[in-house]
Amino acid sequence: MIYNHHKPRGKLVKARYQYRFYPTPQQQQSLAQLFGCVRVVYNDALAICKQSEKLPKNSELQKLVITQAKKTDERSWLSDVSVTPLQQSVADLGVAYKNFFDFLKGKRKGKKAGTPRFKKKTSKQGARFTLNSFSIKGTFVYLAKIGNVKPIWSRRLPSSPSSVTVIKDCEDRYFLSFVVEIEPIHIDAKNQSIGIDLGIQTFAVMSNGDKAASPDYSKKDRKIRKLQRKLARQQKGSQRRERTRIRIANRHNQIADTRKDFLHKLSTKVVSENQTIVLEDLNVSGMVKNRKLARAISLQGWREFRVLCEAKCEKFSRDFRVINRWEPTSQTCSCCGYRWGKIDLSVRSVLCLNCNTEHDRDDNASRNIEMVGMGHRHDLKRTGSDHKTTKSS
Ligand SMILES: [Zn+2]
Repeated sequence: MIYNHHKPRGKLVKARYQYRFYPTPQQQQSLAQLFGCVRVVYNDALAICKQSEKLPKNSELQKLVITQAKKTDERSWLSDVSVTPLQQSVADLGVAYKNFFDFLKGKRKGKKAGTPRFKKKTSKQGARFTLNSFSIKGTFVYLAKIGNVKPIWSRRLPSSPSSVTVIKDCEDRYFLSFVVEIEPIHIDAKNQSIGIDLGIQTFAVMSNGDKAASPDYSKKDRKIRKLQRKLARQQKGSQRRERTRIRIANRHNQIADTRKDFLHKLSTKVVSENQTIVLEDLNVSGMVKNRKLARAISLQGWREFRVLCEAKCEKFSRDFRVINRWEPTSQTCSCCGYRWGKIDLSVRSVLCLNCNTEHDRDDNASRNIEMVGMGHRHDLKRTGSDHKTTKSS
């Protein structure tokens, strides 16, 4: 197989393709040994980092925990496995430290990163092979010092992978996870731009008039609360209590699956149809402190939606914009720019005194979000509170 044979035409994006496989008993043994070595090398390197005042360079660490360690009696067995996954393991530690420092410096947006921790035998295991240590031969994948394994090719690999990670999860299932670079998908968007107002009553209101209601979790939610009351009454350590605990966990998983599915479908639709996607920068963590809203917000997953939209925009070569949450998107008329000022959350529709248009609150906000995002500024004609409002639930 020839790698990297195509010249990249534009910016490439990385994608993961994962396939299940069933190793032979012999391969299971070799893999267990490999996972053990990868873990030991990582933990040895981490122990050195924790003791050092200045973080050692990757190459120094590799020399210490791989090359030199192999020569000692306690670590001589490191020679039995392919060296590439060991080097990758040390490299992973470097990335973990970088993420942590970036997070401390505030450079990392979104995901929180803690100090790197020691790897445990009981958690998910993994070992990464790169270019010279694996190859694809027909339907087989050759892994250095493991042999040929045959994954279930549930979908075609779009191009030559640059690496493959062998994974064993907590349920003892084995997977091959390939990293491939793909060109962003070029499908012309039907529309130039869209603004989206994320809300509680309706999950998303779009500037093109579309609305997306959140799935109804209330029934499952009630069931969970009922089970939790039951759990509180049950004797600690009892079989029945354990059964209730598992049932609660199941319900939570069902809600999470439904939500994930909903958010994926919605973000795919929005991103594939529009060239520029504009969202409002919501202060989610600030809002979650407000007890009343907390449940609804955590269920609806605004943050998850934003992360999905951002990732898909990259994949589809779209523009993703977030506007400042202090923009008065719900205080301004999207038709004429007249600013009526702050209105209570309970007020669902507004009649503009300047141009006489009646607006649905969220609909108006989504149009404003789109305009601000596209650089059409509000034309603030007047600021005042002499607006007529109609209440509706
Ligand atoms: Zn108006």
